[in-house]
Amino acid sequence: MAENTDRKMTIENRKLFVPEIDELCKVLEEGLKANFGEASVNYVECPDLTQLPFTLASPGLCGQPRLAEVGGVPNLMPVVKKETNYDIEKVAEQADLPGAFVLGAGAGCHHFVGVNSEMMANVRTKGGENKDRQNLTRIAKVNKQDGSCILEACDSTQFSLMANLFLSEGKPGKVVEIKVSKRTGEENFVTCMRNILNMKYGDKCVGLGGTFLIEKGKAKFHVMPDFSTTPLDTLDQINNWLKFYEMSSPLVVFSCFLSSDPGLDLRLEHSHGFGHHGEGGHYHYDVTPDEVVYKAYYQVAEYIYRVDAPKETHNLGRD
Ligand SMILES: [Zn+2]
Repeated sequence: MAENTDRKMTIENRKLFVPEIDELCKVLEEGLKANFGEASVNYVECPDLTQLPFTLASPGLCGQPRLAEVGGVPNLMPVVKKETNYDIEKVAEQADLPGAFVLGAGAGCHHFVGVNSEMMANVRTKGGENKDRQNLTRIAKVNKQDGSCILEACDSTQFSLMANLFLSEGKPGKVVEIKVSKRTGEENFVTCMRNILNMKYGDKCVGLGGTFLIEKGKAKFHVMPDFSTTPLDTLDQINNWLKFYEMSSPLVVFSCFLSSDPGLDLRLEHSHGFGHHGEGGHYHYDVTPDEVVYKAYYQVAEYIYRVDAPKETHNLGRD
């Protein structure tokens, strides 16, 4: 098979630190209050996330929660490695959770989509006891005619280059609900939470995955155009190559982040999202701090799996 998703890959995993949940909520709420006009964090029963606006492939984020990072930015730059293709079904097996509900951010399958693209992974895989797959993955790509963003459903479970994924049994149950509005700090919503947890827990690595809604305001997103014909060696070259957009709320974002790296060469945050009005891509930050309203549902992961970590690595382009 040209996509070569069955090749042998390295897999490592680490147990993550799972804080006492009341403490975690309190730590996040206090930290977020220093960066947003209003912030509340509670451990609540998850609403049915299959419903609008979230439209996830499973109702909740509970049951053996774990994170997986597959491939990495070094597969994209400085020179693209087009042979680095993967399959979400396979990742569920590689992360020891066949049949998992898989949510997250990655690069779309360039064989299937036809060009390089952003992937918003949203799949209930069909392994284990699950006999039916439900794939509600979307991809965003750049319109070659006018440079606009195109959002499409993606029937394939394959992807290319990299992904940061949250896996669980997708069951209903309790999750961390985070509501913030009116940003006063400089960091984006996810970086802010990541740094709060890093300050509190230091080397004890805490990982979260889930989804957030940008309910009001606008946000800066990027979409990768087709592969660069010249090497991307510097941040300036990367930023000149990427296409940036100010996208309108409401935007549904799938997000993974970790408070630190337990030595697995990880990308510590990665969030991709879309609007049902037809745009999507990689979340950077909101551009309307006074207006912005976020509502998030995250689960605390028990493990991080590292699949097919690039042998030659660098720190470019990880934000
Ligand atoms: Zn991305």
